[in-house]
Amino acid sequence: MQTKRRDAAQPSDVNNASADRPCSPRRILLMDHTATLGGGEIALLNLVKELDRRRFTPIVMLGTDGPLAERLHDAGVETHILPLAPSILHTRKDTLTLGALTRAKDAARLVKYVIRTSRFIRKQRIDLVHTNSLKADILGGLASRLARTPVIWHVRDRIEDDYLPRGAVRLFRALCRILPNHVVANSQATLDTIHMQPSSRAGALFEDLTRRRADVVYSGVIHDGVHPDVGAEQSERSPRNGALVGLVGRISPWKGQHIFLEAAAQVREAHPNVRFQIIGSAMFEEHEYEAYIRDLTTFLNLEDCVEFTGFRTDIGAVVANLDVLVHASTMGEPFGQVVAEGMAAGKPVVATRGGGVPEIMLEGVTGLLVPMNDAPAMADALCMVLADPVRAEEMGRQGIRRVRDLFTIQHTARKVEEIYERVLAQRGAARTRAPRSQRTRPQVAAVRTADVHDE
Ligand code: UDP
Repeated sequence: MQTKRRDAAQPSDVNNASADRPCSPRRILLMDHTATLGGGEIALLNLVKELDRRRFTPIVMLGTDGPLAERLHDAGVETHILPLAPSILHTRKDTLTLGALTRAKDAARLVKYVIRTSRFIRKQRIDLVHTNSLKADILGGLASRLARTPVIWHVRDRIEDDYLPRGAVRLFRALCRILPNHVVANSQATLDTIHMQPSSRAGALFEDLTRRRADVVYSGVIHDGVHPDVGAEQSERSPRNGALVGLVGRISPWKGQHIFLEAAAQVREAHPNVRFQIIGSAMFEEHEYEAYIRDLTTFLNLEDCVEFTGFRTDIGAVVANLDVLVHASTMGEPFGQVVAEGMAAGKPVVATRGGGVPEIMLEGVTGLLVPMNDAPAMADALCMVLADPVRAEEMGRQGIRRVRDLFTIQHTARKVEEIYERVLAQRGAARTRAPRSQRTRPQVAAVRTADVHDE
């Protein structure tokens, strides 16, 4: 096995992590299967950067190398790559059937991966595992159990038949009750899809217990009032004639770029100077859909007013340049980070009513909600906002206020830290009742550069 290790520990950090001090930081292993910068991975990055290093040392394990690993490395976060077989890494959520998971070859690889991860957990004296994606939940959940280390599942996907194959939904809901010590959901809408609460009468006895095992923690999008990607000089609006309306998100059928384009064609009839941006790229094998929406742009005669920006790493600056932010998902969004990002930038948001989005927005106050899959309704809402700049500005102000109250990265990190403390305390109590072994914490090795080694 190859474990690619990027460890940016500074000598002072190494000293601070000294083994024998009674209050040495607890070692938290955060796991994600991918290093592609999706919403969940950006949220993971924001979280680890904000964790209180006096109390917690984040160590990240990814199933592949990529942009997230680079960003973690730049942020000085110890990051390990334990490569997942491509057939597992690239299995899309909507094809994640039990059959696919148990294909003989892949099943053997999964078992091997779990064993190696569990060995890593023990070797690294990890105190707590925090998994960040569905695949990491399963793999990290099993590995943690094997290593007898507590595990928190951070669920950032809706566990529903419209999003995942039915077998995967059932399996995941069942595992949710037995594998993790605690579940964190990125919205109440996500938590509701996990069905943590037992439905039977007998089960109701345990209702309180189950409720205490799950929390909703929203993903913060601003730090000290600004989006992490916005530099002061970048947030200047560039001068132009028409308003700029942007849809931010990876290019994927359920993100609704086709609905956005159909709405754009209608908006243009009333507001001929308006321009539109599709911000993001196709990520998870969805290039066919990208080709389709480019054709649709031509078909709708929108080539002169629609720009495809591709994936932008300076998303704060890109959003700051918009007049209206649109969210067009055709299925309930688990959370909808981009909606909060639009509000944080003081933009009125026109979004589809589904999943976690109504928890982020205040309808009619920070923006307008429209039904999913309804281009005419989206066009009407956009026309309303564009026709009333005073109201649009007030919506932007209200959005900033709401994000500062509820969606800061600090807020997210403090809640997660509190859950870490709670789970570790429960674990401590369990250990006191039944001590398994005398654990000694080793010195942290001062490996500073990327090195690849076999275990
Ligand atoms: N994003 C980005 N650059 C782009 C397009 C999107 O950085 O060009 C970011 C966006 O700012 C947001 C994330 O990708 O933070 C998407 O998160 P969201 O929860 O909206 O959707 P997901 O990808 O998780 O389904």
